[in-house]
Amino acid sequence: MFSAETPIHAGLQPSITSIGKARLREDVLHSTHKGKYKKNRRGLKHLQKLQPALEHLLHEGEVIFYAARVQAPVNVLDQLTWGWYLYYVTGTVLVFTNQRLLHVRIDAGSKWLRIIQSCAWSDVATFKVAGWLSRTITITFKDGKKRRYWAVPARDAKLLAKLVPHLLEAHAGSVSAQGTMRSLCPECKGVLQESVYACAGCGMVFKNERLMIKLAFIPGGAYLYCGRWFLALVDILGESYAVILLVTGVVLVVDALLHPAQGAMSVALMGLVIAGMIFGLDVVITIHHCRRLVREFIPTKKRDRAEPAANLTMSASSGG
Ligand SMILES: [Zn+2]
Repeated sequence: MFSAETPIHAGLQPSITSIGKARLREDVLHSTHKGKYKKNRRGLKHLQKLQPALEHLLHEGEVIFYAARVQAPVNVLDQLTWGWYLYYVTGTVLVFTNQRLLHVRIDAGSKWLRIIQSCAWSDVATFKVAGWLSRTITITFKDGKKRRYWAVPARDAKLLAKLVPHLLEAHAGSVSAQGTMRSLCPECKGVLQESVYACAGCGMVFKNERLMIKLAFIPGGAYLYCGRWFLALVDILGESYAVILLVTGVVLVVDALLHPAQGAMSVALMGLVIAGMIFGLDVVITIHHCRRLVREFIPTKKRDRAEPAANLTMSASSGG
């Protein structure tokens, strides 16, 4: 266990302040990696925006040491297909506490999306900061999985390279419970199981992959299901175009069958194949995008049981 009062910089006295009910080590948040005081407006702004979430999520005795706005890990297909929207679907605030690392997903207005992942420091094997112009944080977990956060601001990268080794050292030798970073239920804070889109603790239901895949065949459907209106609109235009091509292709094939003419059938089939490929590609990309969104556990207002556990408060009226 890492005491909330442990000094990080030789020249700065530990000082705990609060943001609402959440407690914060202000001497660490507002410091440079060299241990000099420097107001961290960005970090503070994010913590203030996340105050209600943090008050709800933090454990008894848990104190925030630092917060950094970063981009969540992506793969090559993400980089090739999301365009500038990639910044929105990966917007994340990493909150470093004396007990855990929290991965808090935010929207373009820095508001919590009710998507949260966490791991204890005992679940982390290594934490590396790299890069010069564009910095990254690579975390290796005890189960061998790796995550690379990117677009990490220089100030944050340098401070974290100093802070996190203290946290890891204090937890070295303690047993890793999760082995990796796991999604938590935003309501009851229980650990969620991969591919199980309902919380075993409170019954909260999340958007699921099976329905998302079915909806991917309808223009805009899967994006709408994931609550992404803008992407849905773009997809309605793009996929509708593919559907029109597909229908045109079918009409041409039928026409070629009814009125045989030199080369008509091969042209019609070629058109149909191209339209099918465009439609197929659109569906594949849509599923890839929405799978990323759904696997983050998008909460709904539904419950898979009538009564939530007695000690839980319902945040919203139970919608249909
Ligand atoms: Zn729950």
